[in-house]
Amino acid sequence: MINIDEIKKIFKGKISLGEPMSKYTSFLIGGPADYYFEPVDKEDVIKIISYLQGQNFPFVAIGKGTNLLVNDDGIRGAVVNLESALKLIRADGNCIYAEAGVSLNRFVDFCIQQELKGVEMLAGIPGTIGGAIIMNAGAFGGEISNYLTDAEIVRDGMTKILTKEDIGFSYRHSSFSTNDVVLSARFKLQSGNKEEIMKTRNELVLQRNRKHPINYPNCGSVFKNPQGMPAAKLIEDVRLKGVRSGNAQISEVLLELEVKLLGFSNNNLSKVI
Ligand SMILES: Cc1cc2nc3c(=O)[nH]c(=O)nc-3n(C[C@H](O)[C@H](O)[C@H](O)COP(=O)(O)OP(=O)(O)OC[C@H]3O[C@@H](n4cnc5c(N)ncnc54)[C@H](O)[C@@H]3O)c2cc1C
Repeated sequence: MINIDEIKKIFKGKISLGEPMSKYTSFLIGGPADYYFEPVDKEDVIKIISYLQGQNFPFVAIGKGTNLLVNDDGIRGAVVNLESALKLIRADGNCIYAEAGVSLNRFVDFCIQQELKGVEMLAGIPGTIGGAIIMNAGAFGGEISNYLTDAEIVRDGMTKILTKEDIGFSYRHSSFSTNDVVLSARFKLQSGNKEEIMKTRNELVLQRNRKHPINYPNCGSVFKNPQGMPAAKLIEDVRLKGVRSGNAQISEVLLELEVKLLGFSNNNLSKVI
């Protein structure tokens, strides 16, 4: 068990009990988390994560909640929202240091300002650096891990730096253990022409907006592509495109498979997918 009075002695951020997760997911659904922590800075993050890890207390670290489907019954344990505490981004030549709460859009735009190219395919993905590293996010044939050199994490109550090779990435997968929390990462990019990178970025965002039901709550693509075959094609072939259950629907704009919510009431999406 955890002791809130004890936590208040070491932790400066917001603490709330029974916080509805629907406030923190792009699906706008999800029941209450037993304990919800919102650290104010990196030191606060390290303190609360080390505390929870030390107590062996179940917790989940979240960024922007754009890849989360939270049960209506909520989360038994703690949620630590890293978004506002880990916002630092800086450049050192061709290397970028970004904390886990930096949004992917800010990351891409910052790299473009530095005249650095490579990560513009991530523009328009609504999550954070931390969430993207954990699932090796990518689009248009590129992946965030292609540019990552190392990441700083909290593991077993200690901060550690892991190189890309230590971590091990594959398609939409990293080998972090479930209790690891990413604090920051460093990336190495190539120099490029600002106008050209911006042009590519804008074209990719336009393409993305054509494929995603951006007017509805959703969490992007739900299924990984099996080798050599887009998941969307399989779903279309079995006529699931547009299929609806209650207020949950498989996207009609489907080029990649998505589930969107047509209304904001609680739905059990697992019934649909
Ligand atoms: C419209 C839309 C389009 C999308 N398009 C794409 C796409 O093209 N490609 C793609 O790959 N994804 C896409 N996504 C999915 C999602 O945006 C990305 O996976 C994103 O990187 C998730 O980041 P997040 O901050 O929202 O993570 P969250 O949803 O908050 O968390 C996702 C997972 O990561 C873990 N996590 C988050 N931060 C940390 C951290 N710092 N340390 C440890 N664990 C952490 C959480 O515990 C959880 O397991 C899309 C989503 C939407 C809504």
